[in-house]
Amino acid sequence: MNKQKELDKIAREIENCKICKERKSGMAVPGEGNSDASVIFIGEAPGKQEAATGRPFIGRSGQLLRSLIRGIGLQEDDVYITSPVKYLPDRGTPTSQDIAHGRIHLMKQFAVIRPKVVMLLGRVAAEGVLEKKVAVAKEHGQIIEEKDGIKYFLTFHPAAALRFPNKYKPLLQEDFEKLKKFLR
Ligand code: URA
Repeated sequence: MNKQKELDKIAREIENCKICKERKSGMAVPGEGNSDASVIFIGEAPGKQEAATGRPFIGRSGQLLRSLIRGIGLQEDDVYITSPVKYLPDRGTPTSQDIAHGRIHLMKQFAVIRPKVVMLLGRVAAEGVLEKKVAVAKEHGQIIEEKDGIKYFLTFHPAAALRFPNKYKPLLQEDFEKLKKFLR
């Protein structure tokens, strides 16, 4: 199977998906990175800059995420970056319906890439992937689930560290350091 071709096919489905576009705006943001990545980073939903370009995590949160990725010795081209919701929600925050629908596309992306580790960046990522509510402040920094050979690691969304840098930035950095040992 040509993984990149399969991912391109999923991206076309997202671009043509009417349900995805309900109460949303801008370009589709399917995700980007290595089709053979051993780790996938999952956010929440595209913001304005992402919706204007079609690329995930290129705004302020994205710059922090990308520097955390480089900080643990990975290249941005080694990993895959996406979100459960593929368009900018009209209200900024995605609804449970948005998250549940986005999951359909996300699971197809997982089935192609078959990562070793999925890095869940916050509550929406955990809900979008594992279909369960998590208490990020309590459960972060560890594998919160392991199934079908994939480990699910929970940490904060980088936006939390932009809002409260003193509190969350060191915790995010620590969690990324912990992630390293699962990628060997
Ligand atoms: N925040 C996200 O969760 N995803 C993006 O693509 C950008 C910002």
